[in-house]
Amino acid sequence: MKVRCCIVGGGPAGMMLGYLLGRAGIDVVVLEKHADFFRDFRGDTVHPSTLQVMHELGLIDGFLKLPHQRLQKMDGMFGGASVRLADLSRLDANYPFIAFMPQWDFLNFLRESGRRFASLKVMMNTEAIDLIHDGETIAGVRAKTPEGVIDIQADLTIACDGRHSIVRERAGLAVEEIGAPMDVLWFRAGKGTNETESVFARVEPGKMMVTFDRGDYWQCAYVIPKGRTDAVKAEGLRAFCKTIGDMLPALLDDVARMAPILKSGVSDVKSWDDVKLLTVAINRLKRWTRPGLLCIGDAAHAMSPVGGVGVNLAVQDAVATANLLAAKLASGCPTEGELDAVRQRREFPVRMTQRMQVIAQNNIISVALKPGGESLRVPLVMRLITAVPWLQGITARFIGLGVRPEHVHSPALEGS
Ligand SMILES: Cc1cc2nc3c(=O)[nH]c(=O)nc-3n(C[C@H](O)[C@H](O)[C@H](O)COP(=O)(O)OP(=O)(O)OC[C@H]3O[C@@H](n4cnc5c(N)ncnc54)[C@H](O)[C@@H]3O)c2cc1C
Repeated sequence: MKVRCCIVGGGPAGMMLGYLLGRAGIDVVVLEKHADFFRDFRGDTVHPSTLQVMHELGLIDGFLKLPHQRLQKMDGMFGGASVRLADLSRLDANYPFIAFMPQWDFLNFLRESGRRFASLKVMMNTEAIDLIHDGETIAGVRAKTPEGVIDIQADLTIACDGRHSIVRERAGLAVEEIGAPMDVLWFRAGKGTNETESVFARVEPGKMMVTFDRGDYWQCAYVIPKGRTDAVKAEGLRAFCKTIGDMLPALLDDVARMAPILKSGVSDVKSWDDVKLLTVAINRLKRWTRPGLLCIGDAAHAMSPVGGVGVNLAVQDAVATANLLAAKLASGCPTEGELDAVRQRREFPVRMTQRMQVIAQNNIISVALKPGGESLRVPLVMRLITAVPWLQGITARFIGLGVRPEHVHSPALEGS
């Protein structure tokens, strides 16, 4: 098989880039190792920056018809005090809210929308297992399919295969680890029909939890100190559920409204299989390219879950890549210098976002998770943001639109 561009990985970066290159008429294939997109507990937060991209592609109306919940005000309880971290209604944006949508719906939507581009092919159940070299140049990938191993020759290979990227590893690209003090345990808790949309970040001495409204259930993220999963499990499932149950009523204004969480929050977690570990990492590549190869999305920079920005940065990388490279790809593989233009454009937003995540980790999360604390004082910056509403617009801008938001400028076939 021979293509102009082979994208490894059908996550947000790969599917968006595949769509954009197909839209530009480039001969492109996206390889996804799974048979479908259905995997629970992935980034489900579609921010205003991504909604704007969908708008610019003319996809927004269909997209917003898919079931989702909307969030504008990011509220929390910190050591018993109410705080407001961001207010997206203050944004001067077409879509001033975060849409919570299962990632598989988002990816399926992109896949279905891209079917009209004859030059775009998505191969599910196809796992890249090695790179093909032509001297110093990466000349495609070797992939495992249900029919056997195939070679896909490509002028340009783009690694969108996430934070455990085999492509970047085979290309020998070095990862710079920045580190994170926590891991996250994810689980579901069902809820009653009358509850309204909201995110509650709850912080108590030694404990932290975030709950996302997902329509008929809450998606809960319980934050633990790094590497403590085995210790949490050793205390037993009952103790874990009790901690969650104890945490909620202590921190909620309206315990009655949240009662269904308490009931089902415990009953939904029937075994440790219902609790998924996210090993939090912050890292980035120093070099995103080799001749014939580019890495973007989590493959180039894993983000902390702080702010829920991972999906949106991956989409922004895809838009920048198409803007910078689609026209050049029409006539062959861009030079490594031209490929590196993507890093030059996207590295600053990535570094700035990771810097802010590290500040939040060190000043809020590490403080909250410190064992043995008797009481928690709301950090000064949080008190300021809560007290001064326009500051809630600044944090909303940083979270919702990000640093250097991208707009779609890549070429499009007539009628698309
Ligand atoms: C538990 C969890 C919760 C998260 N919560 C949030 C959140 O709330 N908000 C947010 O914005 N971000 C969140 N993230 C991060 C977010 O999911 C990622 O930042 C984002 O999905 C990155 O997109 P990507 O396309 O670069 O990589 P990925 O989404 O990781 O996609 C990579 C794709 O490549 C495929 N793949 C991997 N290897 C191969 C191979 N060898 N061959 C073919 N295909 C391959 C994978 O199956 C996958 O589909 C979360 C992540 C996790 C794990």
